[in-house]
Amino acid sequence: MASARGSPTRRGDLIEPARAIPVFAEHDVLVLGGGPAGIAAAASAAAHGADVLLVERYGFLGGMGTAAGVTNFCGLHANVHGEIRQVVHGVVDELLDRMRALDGLSDPHLIFGRIHAQAYDMSAYKCAADALLVARGVHVLFHALGVGVVRHEDGAIDALVLETRSGRVAVRARTFIDCSGDGDLAHRAGIALEKGDDTGRLLYPTLMFRVGNVDPARAGEAWRSIPQRMEEAEAAGEFRFPRRGAIVRPQKHETEWRVNVTQLRDAEGRAIDGTDAQSLSDAEIEGRRQVVEYLRFLRAKVPGFEDAYTLDIAPQVGIRETRRLAADYMLTADDVLRCADFADSIGVNGWPIENHVAGDVVWKWTPEGSRGYNQLPFRMLVPRRSVGSGATNVLVAGRCAGMTHEGQSAARVSGACFVMGEAAGAAAALALREHVAARDIDIALLQRALEDAGVFLGST
Ligand SMILES: Cc1cc2nc3c(=O)[nH]c(=O)nc-3n(C[C@H](O)[C@H](O)[C@H](O)COP(=O)(O)OP(=O)(O)OC[C@H]3O[C@@H](n4cnc5c(N)ncnc54)[C@H](O)[C@@H]3O)c2cc1C
Repeated sequence: MASARGSPTRRGDLIEPARAIPVFAEHDVLVLGGGPAGIAAAASAAAHGADVLLVERYGFLGGMGTAAGVTNFCGLHANVHGEIRQVVHGVVDELLDRMRALDGLSDPHLIFGRIHAQAYDMSAYKCAADALLVARGVHVLFHALGVGVVRHEDGAIDALVLETRSGRVAVRARTFIDCSGDGDLAHRAGIALEKGDDTGRLLYPTLMFRVGNVDPARAGEAWRSIPQRMEEAEAAGEFRFPRRGAIVRPQKHETEWRVNVTQLRDAEGRAIDGTDAQSLSDAEIEGRRQVVEYLRFLRAKVPGFEDAYTLDIAPQVGIRETRRLAADYMLTADDVLRCADFADSIGVNGWPIENHVAGDVVWKWTPEGSRGYNQLPFRMLVPRRSVGSGATNVLVAGRCAGMTHEGQSAARVSGACFVMGEAAGAAAALALREHVAARDIDIALLQRALEDAGVFLGST
């Protein structure tokens, strides 16, 4: 299970010769990363009149939702005083409509008897997200990896440097939104970031996979019996599993099931670090070994899975947490659990604490009968002024926004990332119109624009 090799040893440094980089393009707003936060940020900034470029290292959108095979939206709904309803609206409504039109969206399903999640087809997500951004006039640059920034004298970012199939290029913009999940742009810009809990421990990653050719009639509600079957198989000494809390669920097409069960650790048993090249590489290999082993279990022990096969293994290990912005406000577990309100609300999070710890998943819920969601403050997107690098034209949205380790374990899911992205995009576009820095946008103006776009701010 553990990586034996660890990080590469540093064997001195080379000095890279200075070179001229062609300026490939110039836009109002540059969004780095095409996951839920980046999709919403780009679509929202464009809807508010900005000329937007979205840069993505892969050849498709969706972020962890497609690249890591997540195939399931969490956090779109909340259990509001006992009634489950969709609380995340705005850009995501158009995305969901487009996915539904492609027959790629399941109806929401109940989990733990208290909240909804919603499975989807990854191809539909990719195609619907393309169509959404094209319809809103967003420029998209795929197969482009953000690798550095060039700054103005006052510290503001002038350009993002990209490695592309056409070589190394720079793209200038007036405002940058980091939706890379790992805070790549902020990191390159010297903006203060945090990583892990008090001891630096990260949420454990998972390599997701899907199996095909499940017999739906025989499998039935197998997700209920699988944890018990795993315990029995382990007790009998037949299998050893990397974690409890297996999530094995049917997809839109009922012969396909997604499997969220692997857990990737380093040699010391700590979560592998998605920003460490060797650790990430070791995790891919270990993850696929665990996939092979788990399929063996499913076929041997779970009725309906006898002839199942690996339909796909996600293109990359699913990373839940790496760097998080040191923001003007850090969303905490307490905020999530006591359904906190914020005067600068940009939308809501209805997902509970979902902490992927060593060998298990620990859930913490808001009190039964409570409002079931917390508001998300705009300040969590804003780099903290006191430790700022002078990069005043940057916002950070999505799983790398300003949250504590535990707060992030809730608001990192797709629903809250759509919310953060939409607000960051709107703030960036409105700020350009108002001739202020995005971080200084008038909150009332932003909130009105978000509500006009259909966003639920959680004020009722
Ligand atoms: C195994 C696993 C299971 C999960 N299960 C669920 C679930 O069931 N439901 C749910 O809602 N959420 C789930 N999540 C969480 C959720 O998928 C993510 O937290 C969410 O996708 C984060 O969105 P984001 O836009 O902030 O970042 P990401 O989805 O990580 O997207 C970031 C994007 O930026 C791109 N990028 C990064 N760096 C660069 C760079 N330097 N240059 C260019 N592009 C770059 C990446 O390729 C990626 O497309 C799960 C996560 C994992 C890992």
